[in-house]
Amino acid sequence: MLEAADKIRSLPPYILAEVFAARDRKLEQGVDVIDLGVGNPDLRPPEKVIRALHDSLDDVTRENHRYPSFAGLPEFKAAIARWYSKRFNVSLEPGSEVLPLIGSKEGLAKFMMAHLNAGDTILIASPCYPAYLGAATVAQASIYEVPLLEENDFLPRLEDIPAEVVKRAKLILVNYPNNPTGAVATDDFYERLRKFALENDIFVMSDIAYCDLSLDSKFRARSFLEFDRNKETSIEFHSFSKSFSMQGWRLGFACGNKTAVGNLLKIKTNMDFGVFMAVQRAGMAALEDSEALTAAVSDVYRKRRDVLLGGLRKNGWDVRPPSATMYVWLKIPRSYASSAEFTGDLLEKTGVVVAPGIGFGKYGEGYVRISLTVSEERLVETVKRIREAGFTY
Ligand SMILES: *Cc1c(COP(=O)(O)O)cnc(C)c1O
Repeated sequence: MLEAADKIRSLPPYILAEVFAARDRKLEQGVDVIDLGVGNPDLRPPEKVIRALHDSLDDVTRENHRYPSFAGLPEFKAAIARWYSKRFNVSLEPGSEVLPLIGSKEGLAKFMMAHLNAGDTILIASPCYPAYLGAATVAQASIYEVPLLEENDFLPRLEDIPAEVVKRAKLILVNYPNNPTGAVATDDFYERLRKFALENDIFVMSDIAYCDLSLDSKFRARSFLEFDRNKETSIEFHSFSKSFSMQGWRLGFACGNKTAVGNLLKIKTNMDFGVFMAVQRAGMAALEDSEALTAAVSDVYRKRRDVLLGGLRKNGWDVRPPSATMYVWLKIPRSYASSAEFTGDLLEKTGVVVAPGIGFGKYGEGYVRISLTVSEERLVETVKRIREAGFTY
């Protein structure tokens, strides 16, 4: 009998998969399901970017269809450096400090693989994007979930991490604007994180997949590299999936500390072939116009957020509107013992799918995540069904 490796066998059950199975059973029964469970944007990539991909596919003078270089397309890396300078006023050396990724999920997992030996400790701010926990498990790391609590604005209290955990920790992974809570980082937090990292020799992985989904006109996310200006102790991960709705295209990048980027390149060189060159060229088109393109996407999610929260508020759910991301992090009604119980009951009575907080790590319990990935019309319908089924906070 073929046995899976320990690193696979120790993977926790994928809780969200159960929710999706329940959704599929409802769909089979012919229920008009409203799926707010997955963070899968329903928008199309920008026209301009689609056209750039077409042009790249048709261009026979370039070698777009061949194996890309492991290190990524130099023009794309130069475009990333220009964008970073314009967006964050951070300078990057394209050759050694930037690396295109086949989506940031790939980069996050391989970065852990490249730096964690079995038993090494990684601090993961939780609740979190579930793939962090899976990737760290596959790397056979010892995971310490740092709680993100509402009373601390979902920012970790670094001083509360036990000293012996800090002492053995090698990496810390943070994600702001945050999936699933919608929380954003303060300058003060990033300052403290930098000090904490340098003092304790812990390397920071900063995932800023949502840096350009601002739902509040006054809010503009910052890069951790604005604080770690010499790139002493961090690497940052970006994605084209959320801000440009290009999730199926698989495009992201990592940037920051040279050694870290080099180690990531080394493992990628042995495991994949990099991003399709035509997609990297389309990525250049997205970055060129990023301000206008991401403003348009943010606008869609902002309107949806207001429709949903306005409706829920009338039913007694007082939710703090998130300033960024495409998620609403909602406390479950007091009468429910767990997020899974509430999620199940909500689906049963309304046909609305939301993601139970426990699927995002142990500190997600007590909440559900709602993705704003359906039209305003469907969100109005969602609120109506929740009201008619008698759900109040
Ligand atoms: C969606 C998401 C990703 C993955 O993005 P890809 O670039 O599509 O792999 C990474 N981090 C967070 C926090 C996400 O929500």
